[in-house]
Amino acid sequence: MVVNTCGFIDAAVAESLDAIGEALAENGKVVVTGCLGAKDGGDFVRQAHPKVLAVTGPHATREVMSAVHAQLPKPHDPFTDLVPPQGIKLTPTHYAYLKISEGCNHRCTFCIIPAMRGDLVSRPLGEVMQEAENLVKAGVKELLVVSQDTSAYGVDVRYRTGFWKGRPVKTRLTELARALSELGVWVRLHYVYPYPHVDEVIPLMAHGKLLPYLDVPFQHASARILKLMKRPANAENTLARIKAWRAICPEITIRSTFIAGFPGETEDEFRRLLDFLEEAQLDRVGCFAYSPVDGAAANALPDPVPEEVREERRARFMAVQERISATRLARKIGTTQRVLVDAIDGDTAIARSAADAPEIDGVVRIANGTAMPVGGFADVLVTAADAHDLGAVRA
Ligand code: SF4
Repeated sequence: MVVNTCGFIDAAVAESLDAIGEALAENGKVVVTGCLGAKDGGDFVRQAHPKVLAVTGPHATREVMSAVHAQLPKPHDPFTDLVPPQGIKLTPTHYAYLKISEGCNHRCTFCIIPAMRGDLVSRPLGEVMQEAENLVKAGVKELLVVSQDTSAYGVDVRYRTGFWKGRPVKTRLTELARALSELGVWVRLHYVYPYPHVDEVIPLMAHGKLLPYLDVPFQHASARILKLMKRPANAENTLARIKAWRAICPEITIRSTFIAGFPGETEDEFRRLLDFLEEAQLDRVGCFAYSPVDGAAANALPDPVPEEVREERRARFMAVQERISATRLARKIGTTQRVLVDAIDGDTAIARSAADAPEIDGVVRIANGTAMPVGGFADVLVTAADAHDLGAVRA
């Protein structure tokens, strides 16, 4: 039952609360919507009636429908629904991106995304889970969780309790990750801004619930540059956290991105970044030469780094990382890895392991792999490695 409420005058509030009580007594499954639902972010209604399934505010058709569909999945009618239940996606059938929010509350000085997309708006948890389940039912084996700021999921709705299969689940990264892990497919987290609570997902990785893979953009290692970028953290903390993550989940693959040649970056500060790379021994790294995007606050900072120096620093950075990556990948020779096959190329199967996100990381090339099923899992024995990719044979 969906109860539409009014909160305009006290009498309307009382009547709305009575109606919710009546509906709860009638069938127990109640979604509240309308103006009273918005009061105190939904807490007002929840305090009076803690058993309601969801509380939404006015103009919340989508949220109401997603709360309803969390209880009562929408039947697919091929004669009237032109779009298949899993939606339309441009990725191969076996993997899909799952966008959990839009916008960002940070104001990193090099970035104009908040100006373009606005502040963070998290998708309702039930809606995200429904989409994920539809994708899995349609054959998806790997979900790539994306957003502008994945770790902030739910901040805008104060981690409101959503519902999934009749169960209350908080709109929060850890809880979402746990719920996604129940779908029985690979779940990979991208764009995880390094908030402290990110530490909570590492044990899920250690227990095989999520892929042991964390894409966490650190951007720099110099405290002064990070401050100019308006980014949190400092290199010492970051190193300690990486160490702690690896202690909990030794097989974790850490991916990060950095900016070389940020305005004001001195040669010493850049070297500090290279030292950090050597110490952190990250698995996958991307580096951009600073790009003065129109509208970015960082463009007004003093001492811009000339373009050729920015490019030269980026190249030096990548050379260091290439060596680190080659050493780390060489350690995998002789191990057995579970892979997901993406394509067949001649007599080679092109696959990815837990350490490889599509498009941005390396691949595993499996010799004599023509018979391997595209979109299926296989176990392979790693026989070769270079700076980015692995070579393997069927185990
Ligand atoms: S870089 Fe990422 S975290 Fe920073 S403002 Fe842009 S989208 Fe937000």
